[in-house]
Amino acid sequence: MKEGYVAGADIGGTKISVVIASKNKIICKTVEKTKKQGSIDTIPNQIDDMIKISCNQIGIKKSSILNLGIISCGAFEKKGKYTRIYANNICRGISNNLPNNWPYLILEKRLSKLYKNIKLMNDAKASAQAEYLFGSGKKYKNFVYVTWSTGIGTGAYVNGFLLKGKNNNAPHAGHIYLSDSNLKCNCGQLGDFESLVSGASLEKIYGKKPEEIFKEYKQGNKKAIKLVKKAAKIFARGLVSINAILDTEAFILGGSIMKNKHILLPLIKKEFYNSFKPLTKDVKITTSKLEYSIGDLGALSLVMNKDWIRSWQKRKPWKHAPEAVNIPL
Ligand SMILES: [Zn+2]
Repeated sequence: MKEGYVAGADIGGTKISVVIASKNKIICKTVEKTKKQGSIDTIPNQIDDMIKISCNQIGIKKSSILNLGIISCGAFEKKGKYTRIYANNICRGISNNLPNNWPYLILEKRLSKLYKNIKLMNDAKASAQAEYLFGSGKKYKNFVYVTWSTGIGTGAYVNGFLLKGKNNNAPHAGHIYLSDSNLKCNCGQLGDFESLVSGASLEKIYGKKPEEIFKEYKQGNKKAIKLVKKAAKIFARGLVSINAILDTEAFILGGSIMKNKHILLPLIKKEFYNSFKPLTKDVKITTSKLEYSIGDLGALSLVMNKDWIRSWQKRKPWKHAPEAVNIPL
């Protein structure tokens, strides 16, 4: 890889963020609402436009960016040369406005005409990679990163290798069945992990945003306390189930819901360590230290060479990253 600049893009259901980095630092970050109408190239074009705007802002030529790492929620399917991304929370919005009902994104077809090297990975898996290279995961050969956010995402290292699977979806633990509840996940399943406790589900159940739920929990609201305790218990059981399969050393937890770690961690640990002890007693449960940088680092790490990674491990430049700039639609 020629040194110079690399770009990372993080596609979410509500927003897309783009970061540009050199070997020394993260130079800029821009954020824009995810476009949900238009042609099949809407999202790849949006990413390219955001990179153009970022380059203009920092005074570099877009042509100097050859390497682009992209992360997105899944699920993925390898189909010939390209990967289909079945991100329901993105594609549902777009497909409603297309005559031929477009159920997935394809990014590489368009973007490979514009960039020399494109790497794509599930967002939670890339976050696990960021933890492994730069965060709390450095200590472990076996750990699972779990993001508890609008959805629930997971990425796992087993014996020092990032778990992938035939379509790069392993482990997609947000969609493991945990009950026979009638709550419906975006994937269509009833009673799976995400349907029960994702941020979006908690909002559906309670009728208020998760921030409000936790605020009311702190104020002593009985309904909020009951919901949070139940959610933490189910979340812990999700971890028990993942550990039963992977026999891991540690869970590293992140995401917007886990910002309430002072409330959630003790509840999660209580339920987890009360489960089948021979499997759970030696498992560490901790939180991510990379916090808001984790997505940026995940996307950039897909296209950074070993030298860059070693240099960033020493200097931690993400700690001095500039604030994100919002691009109004
Ligand atoms: Zn699901």
